[in-house]
Amino acid sequence: MPISNDGIMVILSSPSGAGKTTLVNLLSNQDNFKVSISHTTRQPRPKEVPNKDYYFVNNDEFKRLIKNEEFLEYAKVFDNYYGTTRTPVINFLNEGKNVLFDIDWQGADQIKNKKLDYKLITFFILPPSKEILFKRLSNRDMKDKLIAEERMQQFERDVLHWINYDYVVVNDELNSCFTKIKNLINAELNNGSKDYDIDYIRSHVEKLTS
Ligand code: 5GP
Repeated sequence: MPISNDGIMVILSSPSGAGKTTLVNLLSNQDNFKVSISHTTRQPRPKEVPNKDYYFVNNDEFKRLIKNEEFLEYAKVFDNYYGTTRTPVINFLNEGKNVLFDIDWQGADQIKNKKLDYKLITFFILPPSKEILFKRLSNRDMKDKLIAEERMQQFERDVLHWINYDYVVVNDELNSCFTKIKNLINAELNNGSKDYDIDYIRSHVEKLTS
C-alpha cells in the first residue's frame, strides 16, 4: 500500500510473446490499480475495443499530440507510434490510484529519466525459453511463421534491455509469475524482504541469448 497518499507507477515491459498483456489484465483487477490507456497509430486488431485497449489515432493526430507536448513518453515500435498522455496518469496518481503501464523499453527509459515525484517500479517479463517463445508466437499458417521469425529477431535485441529494470520475472507459469510481481510490489511499498535472485535472472538471460 502506498506510503504517502499518492499512487505509484508500475511499468511492465517485455519482448513480444512473453505473456505481458495477460499479466497486466490480472494486475489491473487488483484494488486501486488503473491501466494507462495508450494512443497508437496501429490498426485495431479484431478483438480490440477502441478507447479501452488503445486510443486508435491517425499519424496527424499523433503528431499533434507530440507538438502539444501531451505525451509523458512516446516511441516507435514495429513501424507504429505508441504513446502515453500525461494528464490522465498524473490525475490518477494525485487521486492516490496506482497506474500500470504496458509499454516498451523505450517508454520505460523515458519515464524513468523524467524522475517524477511518484514512486516507480519497473518489471521486465521474460519467456521461459526461446523454444516456448517461438511456439507462442507461431500459428499454423506461413504468414504467422514469418512474423514469428521477425519477432524472434526482435526478441534478441529487446532482451538486452533487461538490465535497466528494477525486476526481471520469468513467465513460466502465469499465476506464479503474477504472484511474484504482486509480492515484489508489496515488498517495495512496505519495505519488506524481496524474493528476488538476480544471479538466476542473469543466467536465464544468458541461456535465452546464447
Ligand atoms: P501491441 O501492438 O502488440 O499492442 O504492442 C506492441 C508494443 O508496444 C508492446 O511492447 C507494448 O508494450 C508497446 N506499447 C504499447 N503502448 C505503448 C506506449 O504507450 N508507449 C510505448 N513506449 N510502448 C507502448
